Parts: sequence; structure tokens; C-alpha cells
Amino acid sequence: MTTRTVLVINSGSSSIKYQLVDPDSGESLASGIVERIGDATGSITHKRAGERTDITEPVPDHGFGLSEVLRLFDEQGPSLAQAHVVAVGHRVVQGGHYFSGPALIDDDVVAKIEELVPLGPLHNPAHLKGIEVGRQLLADVPHVAVFDTAFFQRLPEEAARYGLNRKVADTYSIRRYGAHGTSHQFVSGEIAERLERDDLKQIVLHLGNGASVSAVVAGRAVETSMGLTPLEGLVMGGRTGDIDPAAVFHLVRVAGMSIDEIDHLFNWESGMKGLTGQQDMREVWRLVDAGDQNARDAIDIYVHRLLKYIGAYTAVMGGVDAITFTAGIGENDARVRAELCKRLDYLGVRIDTEANAVRASEPVTISTPDSSVVVTVFPTNEELAIARQALTLI
Ligand code: AMP
Repeated sequence: MTTRTVLVINSGSSSIKYQLVDPDSGESLASGIVERIGDATGSITHKRAGERTDITEPVPDHGFGLSEVLRLFDEQGPSLAQAHVVAVGHRVVQGGHYFSGPALIDDDVVAKIEELVPLGPLHNPAHLKGIEVGRQLLADVPHVAVFDTAFFQRLPEEAARYGLNRKVADTYSIRRYGAHGTSHQFVSGEIAERLERDDLKQIVLHLGNGASVSAVVAGRAVETSMGLTPLEGLVMGGRTGDIDPAAVFHLVRVAGMSIDEIDHLFNWESGMKGLTGQQDMREVWRLVDAGDQNARDAIDIYVHRLLKYIGAYTAVMGGVDAITFTAGIGENDARVRAELCKRLDYLGVRIDTEANAVRASEPVTISTPDSSVVVTVFPTNEELAIARQALTLI
């Protein structure tokens, strides 16, 4: 019997994703998405207990979208009143230097999220819309902001600061903020609990369409691959990851490209998509299997970048006890895991081929008992993590 729930909202520029979560059992009671807000044809999908409702209608703005969601809860269930919603948790990508944990939303917190828009121009304005309409329509419950950057807010200075002119960096708030922090924190916390150790040196590989790696020592993040923005680090679905910033000067001077064109190229037309024509790893593998050399090279580049980060983070921590795969590729792509782990033999990593081949929605240990590093596939659950963080404040 459900005693309390949290409504988790992830508001994007033209979409609102939501989930009603029981933070105690971890169960998702309902979820859905409002899409193409502001377009001529919008849509809303609402799912609960194996049932699904689809609506196609124009959704002029976020306020209308969320009021439709509340109507669907009313008409299709589960009833929000009976579900005892004790908080609304809002995902916020950029918390800058202000937030090292969740924050109870008031006008001051809203003002800070707004102030951080230049550091999160794609995300924070959309989150603010979700927060504004959420607070209007669900005025009786506390609203909590949970920040993607919070877990990395206390990175050691040597990891957070770039070798950039100090004055410029400080004037313009340029440092490593990281991203996917909610997932890295959740997954590393769950692994520490599973292994019953609070002194672990961990590497978490969040490999989705966006991808990042973190190093976590005794529960504290000490390194992460995303930087000022989520562009830095691993090769991703459409993003370059690490690239010499002089490539920007070169493209401006030699190719005559504008800053906006380069921004788009690096963030949307690069990574696996730019290397192979396909953004989705499943499609990239299809190309590999059909003998496409560019696709084979792209997988090698992808794995090589992972290998470099694991080596670097192992050095930073002075060893590694646990490596964990999560998110779309991390949870599902046994071939990427196998190719990477084969090359971690030098660390004493030993993989059970059969365990690695399994695709499960539950956590699976894929290392053998004699492996010197525990390797786990662990499904991330950012909504549950947001719900639990929100609860800590109420
Ligand atoms: P996420 O951003 O975590 O939702 O991950 C999405 C990505 O996971 C997709 O773009 C795919 O590249 C990848 N993915 C999902 N399922 C599989 C699968 N079965 N095999 C390989 N990659 C997958």
C-alpha cells in the first residue's frame, strides 16, 4: 500500500516528462510525456499499470501541457489526491556554484536558476517554465529542484579548475560543472550498498546518448568527464566529446564557419552520428556487421576514449575497486562492454562472458569472483533518485 509519492518533472524546451514515484518501494506508479509543446500538433502519452492513453492535440504552452497531465491523472488514474503526493521534484541541469544538493524551491532559488541560464542555455529556461507552471498548478505541495551538477559541485579544485587564465575563468564562471550527477550519485551509492563498503574507489560509466564517466572515492566525486557544458569528455551519440579547442579557431579562420554553426556541428552532428551517419549504437553495430569500415573505426574510437578515461581515473584514485556500466548503452550493449573490459585485463578485470551477455532490468555482476575489480551492469533510475533527494528536504 502506497503511503507517499513524489511527482518528478523533467521539463524540456518543447516537452514535459513526468513520473509518479513511490520513493520507498522505488515503484513507478505512472509516467508520461507531453511532446511538441508550441507546435501545431502536440501529443501526450500517459501510462499507468500497463495501460496507456495517447492524446493528439495542440499544446500551446507548458501550463496547458501540465494541466492536461493533471486531468489525465484525474480521469485515468492514479488519483494524485489518493497517491499522497508529498513533493514535486524538478530535474534541473545547471546548478552552477550555488547548489551542492537539492533545494526547496522558493523565489530565491528560481532567481538563481535564472541567473545560471548563460551556463545552461539549452536547459535552464525550460526547467524554469516547468517550475513556474508546476508551482501554480500544484500549489499545496513543496517543490524541490534536483541538480545534475550538484554531485560534482565539490570536486577537488585540481579537477574542477581548467588551466585557463584565472581572472577570465573566475569572471565568467568557467570551470568543470559536470552533468548526469544524479545518475552517478545514485549508481555509485547503490553499488557501495551492494558491496557493503563505504571506502570504495569507483568508476561509473553513464553511457547513453549523452555519455559521461565519473570517479568516486568513498561516496565523493573526485573527477568527471563533462565540463563547463555536457560537450566535453566521451564520444557521444552526436557530440564530439574532447576535442582541441583550436579546432574552433581553425574552422572559423579556414572554413569560415560561424560560432553557432560550430556549436551545432560539435553538439549535434559529431560523435557516432558524425563518424558513421548513425547516432544509435544499435544502428552503428548493424553497419559494423555489414562490413562498414567507418563504423568499425567509430567503435574503436569510442572504446579508446573510454579506455583513456578509465586509465586516467584509476591513476587519480590510486586504484579502482568497482567499475559500473549504466544508461542505454551501458545497460544494453554487451559488445561495447566486452570490447572495453577485454582491454582492462591489465587491471586484473575478468569478465564472465555469459553474465555479460544477459540483458536484464536488474543489476548484474559481470566480473568473475577472481576479478580484481567488481564490474556491474546497473540500471540507472534518475526519477527515483530525484524523488528520494526531494524527500530529504521535506
Ligand atoms: P539513453 O540516453 O540512456 O536513453 O540511451 C539511449 C541510447 O542507448 C540509444 O541512443 C542507443 O545508442 C543505446 N541503446 C539502447 N538500447 C541498446 C541496445 N540494445 N544495444 C546497444 N545500444 C543501445
